[in-house]
Amino acid sequence: MPIAFCGMLALASCNNHQSIDPAHDPVFKDRDTTVKPGDNFFLYANGGWLKKNPIPAAYASWGIGNIVIEDIRDRLKKISEDAIAAKAPRGTNTQKIGDFYYTGMDTATIAQQGLTSLQPELDKIDQVNDIKSLVDEFAHLQTIGVGTPIGAYVGQDAKNSNKNVLQLWQAGIGLPSRDYYFNTDQHSVDIRTDYQQKHLPALFKLTSLAPDASILISNKIYGLEKLLAENSRKLEDLRDPYRNYNKLTIADLSKLTPLIDWNNLFQKTGFKNVDTVILGQPEYYQALNKALTTFDLGAWKAYLRKNLLETYSSFLNKPFEDENFRFWGTVMSGRKEQLPRWKRVLDAENSYMGEVLGQLFVKEYFPEKTKKRYVDMVEAMRTSFKEHIEKLDWMSPATKQKAYDKLAKVMPKVGYPDHWKDFSTLAISRQPYVLNILNANNFWFRFNAAKLGKPVDRTEWGMTPQTYNAYYNPSNNEIVLPAAQFMIPGVKDEDVDDAVVYGYAAASTIGHEMTHGFDDQGRQFDAQGNLKEWWTPEDSVKFSKRAQMLIDQFNGYEMYGLHINGKATRGENIADLGGIAIGLTAFEKTEQYKEGKPINGLTPLQRFFLGYSLGWLESVRKEAESSQILTNEHSPASLRVNGPFSDIPEFYDAFHIKKGDKMWLDPEKRVKIW
Ligand SMILES: [Zn+2]
Repeated sequence: MPIAFCGMLALASCNNHQSIDPAHDPVFKDRDTTVKPGDNFFLYANGGWLKKNPIPAAYASWGIGNIVIEDIRDRLKKISEDAIAAKAPRGTNTQKIGDFYYTGMDTATIAQQGLTSLQPELDKIDQVNDIKSLVDEFAHLQTIGVGTPIGAYVGQDAKNSNKNVLQLWQAGIGLPSRDYYFNTDQHSVDIRTDYQQKHLPALFKLTSLAPDASILISNKIYGLEKLLAENSRKLEDLRDPYRNYNKLTIADLSKLTPLIDWNNLFQKTGFKNVDTVILGQPEYYQALNKALTTFDLGAWKAYLRKNLLETYSSFLNKPFEDENFRFWGTVMSGRKEQLPRWKRVLDAENSYMGEVLGQLFVKEYFPEKTKKRYVDMVEAMRTSFKEHIEKLDWMSPATKQKAYDKLAKVMPKVGYPDHWKDFSTLAISRQPYVLNILNANNFWFRFNAAKLGKPVDRTEWGMTPQTYNAYYNPSNNEIVLPAAQFMIPGVKDEDVDDAVVYGYAAASTIGHEMTHGFDDQGRQFDAQGNLKEWWTPEDSVKFSKRAQMLIDQFNGYEMYGLHINGKATRGENIADLGGIAIGLTAFEKTEQYKEGKPINGLTPLQRFFLGYSLGWLESVRKEAESSQILTNEHSPASLRVNGPFSDIPEFYDAFHIKKGDKMWLDPEKRVKIW
């Protein structure tokens, strides 16, 4: 990452940030001062950069996360090329990285191979001849990463977070959410039409099926998926942890779905000693049971063939790759061209062997000093959050005591894991690329299945350190904050002033994740990570009333003719709003805030809000933004700034927002939860 320029004259005062060269001030240089802050703060803060940096043809979106990732990718490329040159002993991580990258880049062999390596899998599907062998094939395909209508995985029991249990969730549809099969907006209609009439037939044509037959088969597959979609719950209905928790014995599960021999299925899949399962959506599995006879075996086999091809297309020869990109890259996301091959191979390597690469990455990018800054910041945020809870006028003392306990027990994971995952059973060699991918899928399947019956490993990370993201896990009551999330492109961490860092990292990431433990979903889990009521009923009602105001606020926003789904996005919007409020209080304790000195004409408070907005600096193509609105629990980036800021009184003061400005909200409509 380039080192920030700290002007010669300013050098003496550089460390305490009395002045920052305007050309390298991350919150000064990228503004669009032709936009009024009170009309569209997102554009005021980021518009200058967005105008100068159109989305490159190969991308669906372009922004700060991409810049961070591009830089990391360059570094990972060097690591991978060095691994090839090292000729490391077989079985070492270096050998695996080298061979993965080598076979991914070897397009001559990939072209010559065609479908050869997947033929044994296609043959296996062909041999299905009754419902029993069909269900056996579901079991097998799951072990190599191929989607089936059975969504089985091992995860923590929501009501007993010390225990790993087998969970069954709705699954089986090919489009990213059930709404695509029914919504009447143009975006949804275009996508399902292309999927059914172009994409699926194209996949089958590539397996040498006659064009007529391929259309017929595609229609059958679509019909099957539509039935599964009809019986799948909507995004917002998956948010209620009680409604999506049904503990059943295998005998009870079998009564619900008599056509599926679950003991046999679990044994074939490799889930050992299963006596009970947690079933997310019973009505979905009842519908699946019926669909096993409603649709003939020919339709089911075609459906599985399609799922196999969808999983592996982007690792096969060019015709498969091209069709995969045409539908998923262009139609779904609006991208104009493929990423260069080396980036695609690295992205795959990163997703399958990310922790191996991550170990090398953090050595260089995340020194102890930086880690300490953010570990301390987590504690500052914890203190600030506690002060907010103390002052709440709507929460009773009884619930407050429980909230303090839960907050005190939030476990932070900062930067990178203390223990790295063991990749010794992952088999990567100079075999065909697609077989390396298949082995990697199988490795991750086994990794998950092996957790059954073992104690929960609370040190595990679900993201790599080089991921530009973060998460809260209610079952562990933990916030996980990867190193990459703290990076601001073009500046060294020590050259960024507190105002910007408190907005960028404390409010938008640390505070956001921390308040997830107390959002509409997270608040239903206790300090130990168990789904258990700890709120008084009156406090629950008061919380929900406030959450409803935020749902109404976001339902009122519209983009590309699509309304934001206030219910589905409420947890994220609550976390954004809470993160900002808590981040502000934490920032107000810093020297920079107390001194109040402007830098480049911007007050500390203004820099805080600009720092927060910097975290959402990005442009997104219309197709990708529309897909996000339909499938994602996060609001679009611009609304993650403009939405919550409209609720924050300090924002009105900092930028002199007045009635008549577009972001102005009536004081009684402004939401305050934390
Ligand atoms: Zn979130």
